[in-house]
Amino acid sequence: MNILLNNKIVPRESFTVDLEDRGFQFGDGIYEVIQIYDGVFFEWEAHLERLVRSAKELMLPLPAAINTLYQNLQLLVKDSKVTNGTVYIQVTRGTAPRFHAFPQKTEPTLVAYVREMERPLEQMRSGIKVVTAEDIRWLRVDIKSLNLLGNVLAKQKAVEQGGAEAILIRDGIVTEGSSSNLFSIKGKQCFTHPANHLILNGITRQVVLRLLKNTDLILQETPFTFDELLEMDEVFITNTGQEICPVIQVDEYKIGKGTPGVYTRLLQSAFEALLGSVISI
Ligand code: PMP
Repeated sequence: MNILLNNKIVPRESFTVDLEDRGFQFGDGIYEVIQIYDGVFFEWEAHLERLVRSAKELMLPLPAAINTLYQNLQLLVKDSKVTNGTVYIQVTRGTAPRFHAFPQKTEPTLVAYVREMERPLEQMRSGIKVVTAEDIRWLRVDIKSLNLLGNVLAKQKAVEQGGAEAILIRDGIVTEGSSSNLFSIKGKQCFTHPANHLILNGITRQVVLRLLKNTDLILQETPFTFDELLEMDEVFITNTGQEICPVIQVDEYKIGKGTPGVYTRLLQSAFEALLGSVISI
Protein backbone atom coordinates (compact mmCIF):
# COMPACT_ATOMS: atom_id res chain seq x y z
CA MET A 1 0.00 0.00 0.00
CA ASN A 2 1.14 3.53 -0.78
CA ILE A 3 0.31 6.71 1.12
CA LEU A 4 0.50 10.42 0.40
CA LEU A 5 3.23 12.07 2.50
CA ASN A 6 3.14 15.85 2.02
CA ASN A 7 3.40 16.08 -1.78
CA LYS A 8 4.71 12.60 -2.58
CA ILE A 9 3.20 9.16 -2.91
CA VAL A 10 5.45 6.78 -0.98
CA PRO A 11 5.24 3.17 0.31
CA ARG A 12 3.42 2.92 3.63
CA GLU A 13 6.49 1.25 5.19
CA SER A 14 8.66 4.30 4.49
CA PHE A 15 6.62 6.52 6.85
CA THR A 16 7.13 6.54 10.60
CA VAL A 17 5.82 9.02 13.16
CA ASP A 18 8.54 11.16 14.72
CA LEU A 19 8.82 10.96 18.51
CA GLU A 20 8.25 14.71 18.73
CA ASP A 21 5.57 15.11 16.09
CA ARG A 22 3.05 17.50 17.68
CA GLY A 23 0.15 15.39 16.43
CA PHE A 24 1.56 12.46 18.41
CA GLN A 25 2.36 14.45 21.56
CA PHE A 26 -0.39 17.11 21.72
CA GLY A 27 -3.03 15.97 19.25
CA ASP A 28 -2.01 19.20 17.49
CA GLY A 29 -3.53 18.52 14.10
CA ILE A 30 -6.63 18.13 12.00
CA TYR A 31 -8.18 15.52 9.74
CA GLU A 32 -10.83 14.79 7.13
CA VAL A 33 -12.50 11.66 5.80
CA ILE A 34 -13.91 11.63 2.27
CA GLN A 35 -16.00 8.82 0.79
CA ILE A 36 -15.15 7.32 -2.58
CA TYR A 37 -18.04 5.92 -4.64
CA ASP A 38 -17.14 4.17 -7.90
CA GLY A 39 -13.73 5.86 -7.82
CA VAL A 40 -15.18 9.35 -7.36
CA PHE A 41 -14.87 11.56 -4.25
CA PHE A 42 -18.24 12.54 -2.76
CA GLU A 43 -18.50 16.25 -1.79
CA TRP A 44 -14.72 16.72 -1.98
CA GLU A 45 -14.94 20.51 -2.23
CA ALA A 46 -16.92 20.75 1.03
CA HIS A 47 -14.50 18.39 2.81
CA LEU A 48 -11.40 20.26 1.65
CA GLU A 49 -13.04 23.61 2.48
CA ARG A 50 -13.66 22.29 6.01
CA LEU A 51 -10.00 21.16 6.20
CA VAL A 52 -8.92 24.69 5.28
CA ARG A 53 -11.28 26.14 7.92
CA SER A 54 -10.00 23.77 10.63
CA ALA A 55 -6.41 24.71 9.71
CA LYS A 56 -7.22 28.41 9.86
CA GLU A 57 -8.93 28.14 13.25
CA LEU A 58 -5.81 26.43 14.67
CA MET A 59 -3.35 28.71 12.78
CA LEU A 60 -1.91 25.58 11.23
CA PRO A 61 -0.27 26.02 7.82
CA LEU A 62 -1.21 23.48 5.14
CA PRO A 63 1.79 22.07 3.22
CA ALA A 64 0.13 22.45 -0.19
CA ALA A 65 -2.51 24.47 -1.99
CA ILE A 66 -5.93 22.80 -1.97
CA ASN A 67 -5.90 22.16 -5.74
CA THR A 68 -2.53 20.43 -5.45
CA LEU A 69 -3.84 18.36 -2.54
CA TYR A 70 -6.92 17.39 -4.54
CA GLN A 71 -4.77 16.30 -7.50
CA ASN A 72 -2.52 14.28 -5.19
CA LEU A 73 -5.54 12.61 -3.60
CA GLN A 74 -6.82 11.64 -7.03
CA LEU A 75 -3.44 10.10 -7.87
CA LEU A 76 -3.50 8.27 -4.54
CA VAL A 77 -6.95 6.78 -5.21
CA LYS A 78 -5.91 5.70 -8.70
CA ASP A 79 -2.75 4.15 -7.29
CA SER A 80 -4.73 2.29 -4.58
CA LYS A 81 -7.10 0.71 -7.14
CA VAL A 82 -9.87 1.13 -4.54
CA THR A 83 -13.22 2.02 -6.11
CA ASN A 84 -15.38 2.12 -2.97
CA GLY A 85 -13.93 3.24 0.33
CA THR A 86 -12.60 6.26 2.16
CA VAL A 87 -9.59 8.50 2.08
CA TYR A 88 -8.27 9.69 5.46
CA ILE A 89 -6.28 12.95 5.44
CA GLN A 90 -4.38 14.23 8.47
CA VAL A 91 -2.23 17.30 8.98
CA THR A 92 -0.18 17.91 12.13
CA ARG A 93 1.82 21.00 13.04
CA GLY A 94 4.98 18.96 12.50
CA THR A 95 7.99 18.03 14.58
CA ALA A 96 9.70 20.24 17.17
CA PRO A 97 11.19 19.93 20.70
CA ARG A 98 8.28 19.49 23.11
CA PHE A 99 6.89 22.87 24.21
CA HIS A 100 3.17 23.71 24.24
CA ALA A 101 3.27 26.99 22.27
CA PHE A 102 3.76 26.87 18.49
CA PRO A 103 7.36 26.26 17.38
CA GLN A 104 9.05 29.08 15.44
CA LYS A 105 9.89 27.00 12.43
CA THR A 106 8.25 23.70 11.61
CA GLU A 107 7.00 22.05 8.48
CA PRO A 108 3.53 20.53 8.85
CA THR A 109 3.17 16.79 8.22
CA LEU A 110 0.38 15.72 5.87
CA VAL A 111 -0.48 12.08 5.43
CA ALA A 112 -3.36 10.52 3.51
CA TYR A 113 -4.29 6.94 2.75
CA VAL A 114 -7.12 5.04 1.12
CA ARG A 115 -9.07 2.15 2.63
CA GLU A 116 -11.54 -0.11 0.93
CA MET A 117 -14.85 0.00 2.78
CA GLU A 118 -18.31 -1.43 2.23
CA ARG A 119 -21.39 0.68 2.82
CA PRO A 120 -23.09 -0.42 6.10
CA LEU A 121 -26.27 -1.42 4.26
CA GLU A 122 -27.66 -3.62 7.03
CA GLN A 123 -27.53 -0.75 9.57
CA MET A 124 -29.01 1.61 7.00
CA ARG A 125 -31.88 -0.81 6.33
CA SER A 126 -32.73 -1.96 9.85
CA GLY A 127 -31.65 1.02 11.94
CA ILE A 128 -29.42 1.11 15.00
CA LYS A 129 -29.59 1.29 18.76
CA VAL A 130 -27.72 4.22 20.33
CA VAL A 131 -26.56 4.88 23.87
CA THR A 132 -26.45 8.30 25.52
CA ALA A 133 -23.25 9.68 27.04
CA GLU A 134 -22.32 12.98 28.62
CA ASP A 135 -20.75 15.43 26.17
CA ILE A 136 -17.48 16.15 28.00
CA ARG A 137 -15.61 17.48 24.93
CA TRP A 138 -13.94 20.90 24.72
CA LEU A 139 -15.90 23.91 23.46
CA ARG A 140 -14.52 24.06 19.89
CA VAL A 141 -15.70 20.77 18.44
CA ASP A 142 -16.60 22.65 15.23
CA ILE A 143 -12.88 22.21 14.45
CA LYS A 144 -12.15 18.72 13.11
CA SER A 145 -9.11 18.26 15.32
CA LEU A 146 -7.26 15.10 16.33
CA ASN A 147 -8.38 15.55 19.95
CA LEU A 148 -11.06 12.88 20.04
CA LEU A 149 -10.86 11.48 23.58
CA GLY A 150 -14.37 12.65 24.51
CA ASN A 151 -15.66 10.96 21.36
CA VAL A 152 -13.57 7.83 21.96
CA LEU A 153 -14.83 7.36 25.54
CA ALA A 154 -18.44 7.91 24.48
CA LYS A 155 -18.22 5.40 21.61
CA GLN A 156 -16.55 2.89 23.94
CA LYS A 157 -19.48 3.24 26.36
CA ALA A 158 -21.93 2.66 23.49
CA VAL A 159 -20.07 -0.43 22.27
CA GLU A 160 -19.91 -1.88 25.79
CA GLN A 161 -23.69 -1.48 26.03
CA GLY A 162 -24.39 -3.01 22.63
CA GLY A 163 -25.02 0.31 20.86
CA ALA A 164 -23.77 1.32 17.44
CA GLU A 165 -23.32 5.00 18.31
CA ALA A 166 -23.15 7.26 21.37
CA ILE A 167 -25.44 10.27 21.45
CA LEU A 168 -23.89 13.15 23.36
CA ILE A 169 -25.83 15.22 25.88
CA ARG A 170 -24.54 18.57 27.17
CA ASP A 171 -26.58 20.26 29.93
CA GLY A 172 -29.63 18.20 28.94
CA ILE A 173 -29.31 19.18 25.24
CA VAL A 174 -28.67 16.60 22.52
CA THR A 175 -25.66 17.88 20.59
CA GLU A 176 -24.57 15.15 18.16
CA GLY A 177 -23.20 11.61 17.94
CA SER A 178 -19.63 10.62 18.84
CA SER A 179 -18.87 10.48 15.10
CA SER A 180 -22.12 11.68 13.53
CA ASN A 181 -24.73 14.42 13.50
CA LEU A 182 -28.25 13.75 14.73
CA PHE A 183 -31.63 14.68 13.27
CA SER A 184 -35.08 14.07 14.72
CA ILE A 185 -38.58 14.46 13.34
CA LYS A 186 -41.86 15.24 15.11
CA GLY A 187 -44.88 15.70 12.87
CA LYS A 188 -43.59 17.85 10.01
CA GLN A 189 -40.80 19.47 12.05
CA CYS A 190 -37.25 18.29 11.52
CA PHE A 191 -34.85 19.23 14.33
CA THR A 192 -31.07 19.31 14.41
CA HIS A 193 -28.60 21.16 16.65
CA PRO A 194 -27.47 24.49 15.13
CA ALA A 195 -24.00 24.48 13.57
CA ASN A 196 -22.10 26.34 16.28
CA HIS A 197 -19.04 25.58 18.44
CA LEU A 198 -20.86 22.63 20.10
CA ILE A 199 -21.08 20.36 17.04
CA LEU A 200 -19.06 19.47 13.98
CA ASN A 201 -20.93 20.78 10.96
CA GLY A 202 -20.98 17.46 9.08
CA ILE A 203 -20.79 17.43 5.32
CA THR A 204 -23.53 14.77 5.27
CA ARG A 205 -25.56 17.03 7.59
CA GLN A 206 -25.22 19.80 5.01
CA VAL A 207 -26.32 17.44 2.22
CA VAL A 208 -29.40 16.46 4.28
CA LEU A 209 -30.24 20.15 4.84
CA ARG A 210 -30.32 20.52 1.04
CA LEU A 211 -32.42 17.36 0.58
CA LEU A 212 -34.93 18.57 3.18
CA LYS A 213 -35.86 21.43 0.85
CA ASN A 214 -37.48 18.90 -1.50
CA THR A 215 -39.73 17.49 1.24
CA ASP A 216 -42.64 18.97 3.19
CA LEU A 217 -40.56 18.89 6.38
CA ILE A 218 -39.87 22.20 8.11
CA LEU A 219 -36.25 22.53 9.26
CA GLN A 220 -35.69 23.68 12.85
CA GLU A 221 -31.99 24.20 13.58
CA THR A 222 -32.71 24.52 17.29
CA PRO A 223 -31.40 22.65 20.32
CA PHE A 224 -33.68 20.00 21.83
CA THR A 225 -33.49 18.03 25.06
CA PHE A 226 -33.01 14.35 25.79
CA ASP A 227 -36.65 14.15 27.01
CA GLU A 228 -37.82 15.69 23.72
CA LEU A 229 -35.67 13.23 21.77
CA LEU A 230 -37.53 10.30 23.33
CA GLU A 231 -40.86 11.77 22.14
CA MET A 232 -39.76 12.15 18.49
CA ASP A 233 -41.47 10.14 15.70
CA GLU A 234 -38.17 9.49 13.93
CA VAL A 235 -34.46 9.89 14.64
CA PHE A 236 -31.49 9.38 12.34
CA ILE A 237 -27.76 10.04 12.34
CA THR A 238 -25.60 11.19 9.44
CA ASN A 239 -21.94 10.87 8.60
CA THR A 240 -19.63 10.23 5.70
CA GLY A 241 -19.46 6.45 6.14
CA GLN A 242 -22.96 5.68 7.41
CA GLU A 243 -24.74 8.26 5.21
CA ILE A 244 -28.28 8.47 6.67
CA CYS A 245 -28.80 5.80 9.31
CA PRO A 246 -32.11 5.34 11.19
CA VAL A 247 -32.03 5.26 15.00
CA ILE A 248 -34.70 2.91 16.36
CA GLN A 249 -33.73 2.82 20.02
CA VAL A 250 -32.10 5.29 22.46
CA ASP A 251 -30.86 3.57 25.64
CA GLU A 252 -33.82 1.36 26.63
CA TYR A 253 -36.43 3.52 24.85
CA LYS A 254 -37.91 2.76 21.42
CA ILE A 255 -38.19 5.65 18.97
CA GLY A 256 -41.61 5.77 17.27
CA LYS A 257 -42.63 2.22 16.46
CA GLY A 258 -39.07 0.98 16.83
CA THR A 259 -38.58 0.77 13.07
CA PRO A 260 -37.08 3.24 10.54
CA GLY A 261 -39.55 6.07 9.87
CA VAL A 262 -41.07 7.13 6.55
CA TYR A 263 -39.25 10.47 6.30
CA THR A 264 -35.95 8.79 7.12
CA ARG A 265 -36.62 6.36 4.26
CA LEU A 266 -37.53 9.25 1.95
CA LEU A 267 -34.28 11.06 2.76
CA GLN A 268 -32.28 7.85 2.32
CA SER A 269 -33.81 7.44 -1.16
CA ALA A 270 -33.05 11.05 -2.02
CA PHE A 271 -29.45 10.54 -0.88
CA GLU A 272 -29.24 7.37 -2.95
CA ALA A 273 -30.53 9.23 -6.00
CA LEU A 274 -27.84 11.83 -5.41
CA LEU A 275 -25.19 9.15 -5.55
CA GLY A 276 -26.68 7.84 -8.75
CA SER A 277 -25.68 4.51 -7.35
CA VAL A 278 -26.98 1.18 -8.59
CA ILE A 279 -26.97 -0.30 -5.10
CA SER A 280 -30.50 -0.18 -3.69
CA ILE A 281 -31.14 -0.23 0.03
N1 PMP B 1 -19.83 14.91 14.24
C1 PMP B 1 -18.71 14.29 14.63
C2 PMP B 1 -18.24 14.44 16.04
C3 PMP B 1 -17.98 13.50 13.71
O1 PMP B 1 -16.83 12.90 14.08
C4 PMP B 1 -18.48 13.35 12.39
C5 PMP B 1 -17.75 12.49 11.40
N2 PMP B 1 -16.60 13.11 10.95
C6 PMP B 1 -19.67 14.01 12.04
C7 PMP B 1 -20.32 14.78 12.99
C8 PMP B 1 -20.24 13.89 10.66
O2 PMP B 1 -19.46 14.59 9.73
P1 PMP B 1 -19.43 14.18 8.20
O3 PMP B 1 -20.85 14.13 7.73
O4 PMP B 1 -18.67 15.27 7.55
O5 PMP B 1 -18.76 12.85 8.11
